[in-house]
Amino acid sequence: MTITETSVQARPSERAAGTPEYHEHVVIGAGVCGIYGLHKLAEAGEDVVLLERHEDLGGTWFKNRYPGCRFDSESYTYGYSFSDELLQEWNWSERFAAQPETLSYLNHVAEKFDLRRHMRFGCSVTEARFNEETGTWEISLADGRLYSCRFLLTALGLLSAPVPPRIPGREDFEGLSLHTYDWPTEPLDLHDKRVAVIGTGSTGVQIISSLAGKVKELDVFQMNPNWCAPLNNSPISSTEMKQIKSNYDSIFAQCAQTPGGFIHGPDRRRFADVPPRERRAFWEKLYAEPGFGIWLGNFRETMMDEEANAEMSEFVADKIRERVDNPAVAEKLIPKDHGFGVHRVPMETNYYEAYNHDSVHLIDLKQSPIEKITATGIQTSERHYDLDLIVYATGFDAITGSYDRINFIGRNGQTLRDKWDGGPTTYLGVQVDGFPNLIMLGGPHSASVATNFPRAIEVSVDWASDLLSAMREQGKTVVEPTGEAEADWTDHIRDLYQRQLLRKAKSWFTGYNPNIEGHDRTRYLIYAGGANRYREHLARVAADGYPGLSMTR
Ligand code: NAP
Repeated sequence: MTITETSVQARPSERAAGTPEYHEHVVIGAGVCGIYGLHKLAEAGEDVVLLERHEDLGGTWFKNRYPGCRFDSESYTYGYSFSDELLQEWNWSERFAAQPETLSYLNHVAEKFDLRRHMRFGCSVTEARFNEETGTWEISLADGRLYSCRFLLTALGLLSAPVPPRIPGREDFEGLSLHTYDWPTEPLDLHDKRVAVIGTGSTGVQIISSLAGKVKELDVFQMNPNWCAPLNNSPISSTEMKQIKSNYDSIFAQCAQTPGGFIHGPDRRRFADVPPRERRAFWEKLYAEPGFGIWLGNFRETMMDEEANAEMSEFVADKIRERVDNPAVAEKLIPKDHGFGVHRVPMETNYYEAYNHDSVHLIDLKQSPIEKITATGIQTSERHYDLDLIVYATGFDAITGSYDRINFIGRNGQTLRDKWDGGPTTYLGVQVDGFPNLIMLGGPHSASVATNFPRAIEVSVDWASDLLSAMREQGKTVVEPTGEAEADWTDHIRDLYQRQLLRKAKSWFTGYNPNIEGHDRTRYLIYAGGANRYREHLARVAADGYPGLSMTR
């Protein structure tokens, strides 16, 4: 039996006869970004409807229910900042909250601001076509319903198009198999089950840590290891929560200054000015502290300079060797193809200790590749593994996958899929030449992609909202970027990659996915200049009267 996402796949549009339901604004997606986008428009008294393909709101936090799913952003930096009342009434129970708590939070926000009345669930958008005569978008849903709007705002999620591995025989398996994104809403009793996890990214690392020692056998199928670091999670006491509440202004101000939008900003000292013994002591401190400090609070050179990165990587490699009892297993868990922090760092709780359980087995797919999935398990080049459950923690068609799923048709019948075939092109990560009034809230080339998501999308949503207000004031109804502005921004995005070791990553940051045809080459998907610089850039464009955007009636 396979649990798959049924409502997700784009199907050719079948336009039902009838009149589309018109709203001035349509937002697609009821995740963290869409909820705020909707609130902003509803609060301003605008005519808006939100279309969400799932049965309820929450996006990532609605769908990712696998064991161990939780934040790696500090909880209190993840909540929305727009309402002091909301900040003061919500209590986070842990420094890094688990998925159910985050989903409750998003539901609370929707109730508090009465947003559900604008939301329509089970609305899988398959096509959005710009009508050049009317200057409106015509939207088709999978079930044949039609909507239309002047402004189409996308909040599709960065990681909402799950991708199973390309392994023969997947359909033959007679046990249960599922992608982590499709974990059932009812808990699975796995204590007497033989479980396989394929994939060791952030998701795999969380699920492996969580299942180790709690299932009969846990077989981890690893292609390449990742550099992981301790999350160092802990409960938040009521006293601490009170302090946090009285400090929100400075917490958000701190996040606004850092490239990642987290409370962790890079250390200002030059790597070469700090003696090796002090560097090591500094890394020991970071390793013992909560959250992304070890990655984002480090010397800048660890992300830009090969030698600094190699030294940092060796420090973390030693930590792995200390934590894993079997030296041969430890070596397999140490990445050899990239340095620490070049890929997004999975934050873990007892991940390395998981491999000290007798019931947890690491299978190195470089040594013994999977040949096929059979009716009863997984066949590698070395042996067969008998299984009850196969978990695909194999990641997503990141960032552009959720756009490709919808057939966006712009001016002159051009599709976004075709336009972005070689990688996305955007102006500011907000608009695309030839697709007027399509406004991406946290799309490719924006800062939301690789940073503390709510901090970044608040910037994008506020900016888009100001843009729409400016258009209203000027009596303009159509906005689109010039081709030149789009080309310049897209070049800028490419240049930013070249300054960092990130350019070498073979991960979703560079659009790499081994399971998707054509995604084995570098695609420039993220704004790698830092959320703070991105915000400044957007602010400058608005202050200068939106150069690069053509606004017409
Ligand atoms: P991911 O980082 O893309 O990892 C996918 C994993 O699957 C990789 O280990 C990959 O190996 C492996 N894989 C892919 N195809 C395979 C195949 N055919 N055979 C064997 N292995 C295969 O995906 P993810 O772990 O879902 O994480 C995606 C992102 O979600 C994260 O980077 C993070 O931004 C976010 N996330 C956040 C949290 C959090 O906030 N705490 C938690 C989970 C996820 P290779 O690397 O060798 O290709």
